[in-house]
Amino acid sequence: MMHYHILTLFPEMVLSGLCTSILGRAINHGYLTIEATNIRDFSTDKHRHVDDYPYGGGAGMVMQPDPIYKAYGSVEEKILSEGRKKPRVIYMSPQGQVFHQGLAKELAKEEDLVFLCGHYEGVDERILEEIVTDTMSIGDYVLTGGELPAMVMIDAISRMVPGVLPNEASGEFESFYDNLLEYPQYTRPVEYHGRKVPDVLLSGHHANIEKWRREKSIERTLKWRPDLLPGARLSKKEQEYLKQLIENEKQESFSGEEKGC
Ligand code: SAM
Repeated sequence: MMHYHILTLFPEMVLSGLCTSILGRAINHGYLTIEATNIRDFSTDKHRHVDDYPYGGGAGMVMQPDPIYKAYGSVEEKILSEGRKKPRVIYMSPQGQVFHQGLAKELAKEEDLVFLCGHYEGVDERILEEIVTDTMSIGDYVLTGGELPAMVMIDAISRMVPGVLPNEASGEFESFYDNLLEYPQYTRPVEYHGRKVPDVLLSGHHANIEKWRREKSIERTLKWRPDLLPGARLSKKEQEYLKQLIENEKQESFSGEEKGC
C-alpha cells in the first residue's frame, strides 16, 4: 500500500485531479491514500503569508522555510506514529533529476512519499537542505508550480503499485518496458474510414500476434525514440530485424539524396 503526502498551497487542485478514475478506484479499494497538506495552514503571519522578497533582489517571491518545515513536521509525525519509517521527500523542481519510468518503478516500492510543491520563484534553499531527500523534474520547461509535476509523478508511480491497475500485466508491457515503445492498438470496428485492422490481429494466432507486436514496437522506437534502443532487450532475431530496418532507412535516404532531395 502506498501513502502519498503532498505539501502544497493548492490542496484542492491536487486532490480533485488525483481522486478520480483509476486512482480514485485504487483509493476506494485501499491500495493508495492521498493526503494534501496546506502549507498556508502553518503560517504564523497574521495575513497567512508564506512568501517574501528574495535576499539580494531579483524578480518574484520566495517561499519561506518555516511554514514548510512545520507542514512537513506534521506529516512526518503522523507517519512515524503509524509505525512506518521516515519517508523520502521529493522536491519538485525544474533543476532536478528528470523523472522516468524506471524511477516510477523504484518509487512504487516505498510505503510513503512526500511531495513538496514549490510556487513563485521557488523555495528557500535552507529548507530544501534540511528535509528534502530527492529533487525531481518532469522535463526541461518551467511551470508555475510543483502541483502538476507531483500529480504526473503520482499517476505514473501508482500504475506500478500492485493492485492499482485492474490487469497487472497492462502496466508491465506498456511503453518503456524493455526500453521499447508500445505497439499500435486497435479496437472495434474492424474497418474505420477505409482503414482496416491488420489481419494478423484477427487471426487468433498468438505467436504471430506477439511477433508482429514486438516488430511494431521496434519500428516505432527506431522512428520516434531511437535513443532508447541501446538499452532494449532484443532477441537475436529481433536484433537482425532492427539491423534490417536501419539498413532500409539508410538505403531510402541514399536514394533520396541521389534524386536531389
Ligand atoms: N525559479 C525556479 C528556477 O528557475 O529553477 C523556477 C520556479 S517555478 C516558476 C515554481 C515551482 O514550480 C518550482 O519551485 C517547482 O516546484 C515547480 N516546477 C516548475 N517547473 C517544474 C518542472 N519542470 N518539474 C518539476 N517542478 C517544476
